[in-house]
Amino acid sequence: MDDSRTPPDQAAAGTGSEAATASPQASQPSTASSAGNSNTDPNLNGPLPLRPGHELPFVAPSSYLRPKPTSRTMSDKMSNPLDKDQMQGLRGVREFLKVRTSYDVLPLSFRLVILDNDLLIRKSLNILIQNGIVSAPLWDSRNGTFAGLLTSTDYINVIQYYCQFPHEIDQVDQFRLSSLRDIERAIGVLPLETVSVHPMRPLYEACRRMLKTRARRIPLIDTDDETGRETVVSVITQYRILKFIAVNNEQHTMLLKKPVREIGLGTYNDLATATMNSSVLDVIHLMVKYNISAVPIVDKDNRVLNLFEAVDVIPCIKGGAYDELTATVGEALSQRAEDFAGIYTCSEEDRLDSIFETIRKSRVHRLIVVDDDSRLKGIISLSDILKYVLLYGEEEDDLQEY
Ligand code: AMP
Repeated sequence: MDDSRTPPDQAAAGTGSEAATASPQASQPSTASSAGNSNTDPNLNGPLPLRPGHELPFVAPSSYLRPKPTSRTMSDKMSNPLDKDQMQGLRGVREFLKVRTSYDVLPLSFRLVILDNDLLIRKSLNILIQNGIVSAPLWDSRNGTFAGLLTSTDYINVIQYYCQFPHEIDQVDQFRLSSLRDIERAIGVLPLETVSVHPMRPLYEACRRMLKTRARRIPLIDTDDETGRETVVSVITQYRILKFIAVNNEQHTMLLKKPVREIGLGTYNDLATATMNSSVLDVIHLMVKYNISAVPIVDKDNRVLNLFEAVDVIPCIKGGAYDELTATVGEALSQRAEDFAGIYTCSEEDRLDSIFETIRKSRVHRLIVVDDDSRLKGIISLSDILKYVLLYGEEEDDLQEY
């Protein structure tokens, strides 16, 4: 796995895998009828020839004993040590998430920027940029309540609005954060569910809510027992949660040794990509169409050159420059901050234990899966990892309570 601060063509793709690829063998239904016996079960093997002296066909007892072909159960699939370790690792992480709270994820001291819902959208953009943040909780000061989370998706919605109603540029400039829901309605996108969680509830619950609503971050909201008033405690992201697991539950993440190819982690078909010459606006449309937060930038041979993320939209519209989105991706990416962490790649032979190791050390938001030639194979987002870690192999009944 590589931090692609080195150019992609120099980045060795993947650590290789020490783990043997172990696909569980399907159990073969045994053929129990003895050789030469032509009496077979008509439901299974076709017509029975009548024996002389017998009106009715006989059914060999062995056909009753023959095991019915059944779908493989989890214990069948876990026939080899690698599978058992993987399941043990996943269960260990799930138990860990159930005994820790969202509050545990928070650092000892942190800063929280909350924006008033009455603020102009244009101004909110400057505040995010000045504070080096990409989202903020909103506060309805009239009612004293939490009013949702401002994210780069909201700015993308404003851009969509501007594209649909270009003659309303002056109005767009005067929109307040409280108008975001009206903008969603006007452009016909489903409003994002305003999901939150109490900081003292199990962390597992925050993860399940995030997966259910496809939210990449979740606000922690407490309520004062006496006044009943809400307080925004903080916001936790998928990255923070996965990092918390990576740092504090290594004894279980180190058991996750199956290659990503084998566990099907990530998306490998119908990938949305763009080139350096695509316009920023085209990439934004792709993100909206696919409901994704990043688009790999490839060359004509499908080699990965970079990644355009939803957060890259924010500097592009600084100062309300909605009409300048015709700039190319290459131009937009050249404005990235000097300390940009780079993009992360892995190969299909990499394993979750090494992905967790990378998350432990660096600020990873997704991994681009490439072959030895840096050609794009797939993309693993943090939501793919969270989903696999929480849900793989779980029975529906066990999930009901959350
Ligand atoms: P994300 O928006 O990163 O949380 O990803 C949401 C889902 O879309 C995940 O299952 C990703 O694997 C998938 N995904 C992310 N980026 C792309 C892309 N460029 N093309 C197709 N699918 C993607």
